[in-house]
Amino acid sequence: MTVVKSTVDLDWENLGFSYLKTDYRYVSYWKNGEWDAGALSTENTVTISEGSPALHYGQSCFEGMKAYRTKDGDIQLFRPEENAKRMAKSCERLMMPAFPVDKFVEAVKEVVAANEAWVPPYGTGSTLYIRPYMIGIGDNIGVRPASEYLFSVFVMPVGAYFKGGLVPTNFIISDFDRAAPHGTGAIKVGGNYAASLMPGALAKQRHFSDCIYLDPATHTKIEEVGSANFFGITHDNEFVTPSSPSILPSITKYSLLYLAEHYLGMKVAERDVYLNRLDEFSEAGACGTAAVISPIGGIQTNEDFHVFYSETEVGPVTEKLYATLTAIQFGDLPAPEGWVVKVTA
Ligand SMILES: *Cc1c(COP(=O)(O)O)cnc(C)c1O
Repeated sequence: MTVVKSTVDLDWENLGFSYLKTDYRYVSYWKNGEWDAGALSTENTVTISEGSPALHYGQSCFEGMKAYRTKDGDIQLFRPEENAKRMAKSCERLMMPAFPVDKFVEAVKEVVAANEAWVPPYGTGSTLYIRPYMIGIGDNIGVRPASEYLFSVFVMPVGAYFKGGLVPTNFIISDFDRAAPHGTGAIKVGGNYAASLMPGALAKQRHFSDCIYLDPATHTKIEEVGSANFFGITHDNEFVTPSSPSILPSITKYSLLYLAEHYLGMKVAERDVYLNRLDEFSEAGACGTAAVISPIGGIQTNEDFHVFYSETEVGPVTEKLYATLTAIQFGDLPAPEGWVVKVTA
């Protein structure tokens, strides 16, 4: 096994999920109808016009992904083209110029390679979190698409999102909606997050991990768990995840759907998940890049508190899904074709 010597001295096992300035970020500007060549920068602040549409009208979108250190000391990305394609969809909906998929992946590779020393060692559970974002900038005051754009990618080492790893936590149903029926729920835009701050804070005030959002039209079906997707395991071992045009299409969720079917031999389904039918599930969880999987102990509804597998222990299927996905991400298990992209050979 290659010993990875880092020049960055951090307590790798005990990292949280907080901003840390690393050495380089990628920056590219769109002006006069085209993206410039793009370059790495050591400057971690951004100077923009006070009239920038991102500041007033929320013309901004982002992505979240990770780089993983393998046992051999390599660095790899997990399905980065999927993030690039999803960002292009966010851009299209907000009338922003998409950043080409191949250039997006190259930019991510370049930033990760430049910040190699910040990629946590294998075995610590920590990863390098990658945050691509795009904002509409330039002089403006009316409600219209920006005349100029900034696309940037920055990175920082992170530990587990939910403290305690695979320990179940409890969630509460929110009376607020995170998205409108034909709104922006399916794209990764800043405005969705601004609107989620209050419902999230109210849930935390009541000592829940976060809130669960129901479908905005009927308030009878589960849509999202905070900023993660929901999944449940039925009593006959089927992996079920909600289907709705206002859910953010989680890459982690689609990966789990594939792994449940092809690696674990489970039945899978994307369908409605009714709040009054929670008893069909023996286990439930939330999934997304930051948390990977967070087991759901129980859900507080307006009527009662529903416990799935256990409030204190992770269920066996959830644990198996987590182990399978993270083994692929860290290079310990062969990945499906095209899922893993090496940064260093
Ligand atoms: C980013 C995000 C997710 C998770 O998506 P991944 O691609 O798995 O990281 C889930 N829900 C919301 C609202 C999100 O913004």
